[in-house]
Amino acid sequence: MVSSNLVFASDEIAVSEEVLSSYYKEYFPLDPFIEWLGYRNDETLSRREFSFTLKDDVYTRFRSFTSKEELHQAFIKTKPEKIDIGAIYNYSCKHRLSPDFKEEQRELVFDIDISDYDDVRTCCQEARICQKCWPLMSICVKVLEETLKTAFGFEQILFVFSGRRGIHCWVFDEEARKLNGAERFALAHYCQVTAQQIGTSHRLHTHIQNALKITDLYWDEYLETQDLLGTEEGIDSFLKYVKLDDSIKNEWKEQMLKYDTTMERWSIFQQKRKEAQSKKYRDRLFIERIKIAVTYPRIDIKVTEGFNHLLKAPFSVHPKTGKVCVPFNADDVDSFDCDNVPTVFSLRKNDEELVKVIEKQEGDMSKKYYHGEMKESVKIFTDLLNQVFSE
Ligand SMILES: [Zn+2]
Repeated sequence: MVSSNLVFASDEIAVSEEVLSSYYKEYFPLDPFIEWLGYRNDETLSRREFSFTLKDDVYTRFRSFTSKEELHQAFIKTKPEKIDIGAIYNYSCKHRLSPDFKEEQRELVFDIDISDYDDVRTCCQEARICQKCWPLMSICVKVLEETLKTAFGFEQILFVFSGRRGIHCWVFDEEARKLNGAERFALAHYCQVTAQQIGTSHRLHTHIQNALKITDLYWDEYLETQDLLGTEEGIDSFLKYVKLDDSIKNEWKEQMLKYDTTMERWSIFQQKRKEAQSKKYRDRLFIERIKIAVTYPRIDIKVTEGFNHLLKAPFSVHPKTGKVCVPFNADDVDSFDCDNVPTVFSLRKNDEELVKVIEKQEGDMSKKYYHGEMKESVKIFTDLLNQVFSE
């Protein structure tokens, strides 16, 4: 039993320096990590910004490293509680005070927190996340992937569990890395569709139609599980997206209140939608507007539109849960279980057993991350890197 393995509250756990140190020494996938951040070039690596959050929330920016060994030493010496990654600049970060010091390239990044969906979750609030609200993250991953691939032609996309309450998405494509500030701003806003953008009768943009097709895969089950129309407030929260006179909406509400369940109440919306199609009502797209309002990815726009916004690195450890920020396959997002990811504690606990397995296979003991609990997420990462470097 590790003495620091104290449960503070709910899912919060103290991650001691000792445990972190052994994670960096034994399990952090340093080789592929460094290969990525410098795109196989130590000179490029030296211009990449790293930020470490150290003990007692000491936040240090503009660190730079010229080699794998140097980074490894820094990990072991400083034991960062969190590692964030920034842009590649035109000079090493040591020269950040030069007047012409500027960003040269940066992966396109997205940050989505489940806490931004609190108004459409009844199972959890704030940082909590469970299998009942995870479908929101599934929709998010699928819609984002679809948009990035179809609308922008990007292919090298990595999704990473953020360690506690959400997901990160990194786009490695060279075209994405070299987007300028104005282009990032435009792209970020393209990826931020709001209910207000849905008109009353115009044909929807293909991009929105595609998102709705994904939402529909989850909608009924999500609605029912969360019981979103179980209360009068719930009904009101949907009706506010209907662009019709209050007298009509009140009439609908009265009809819904005659039924008890969310699904029965939802069927009234569907029935009204049919009537709208026959031009009884001028707003014919309220169903689409509601679905977009509830499920469309709620990205933290500042992270995506900014060139030098930092984002927690894949394989960093979440300081409050001890969970490793592991990459996952977008296709497997539905079955991703955020309570079952490797933690600095589980890796330690299973270490002895893993050592035996690696010994038996005559594997490289300095690269334990290619085995055991880390194996799958490291493979997803290295497979993507192979794709990046094969071009
Ligand atoms: Zn939940």
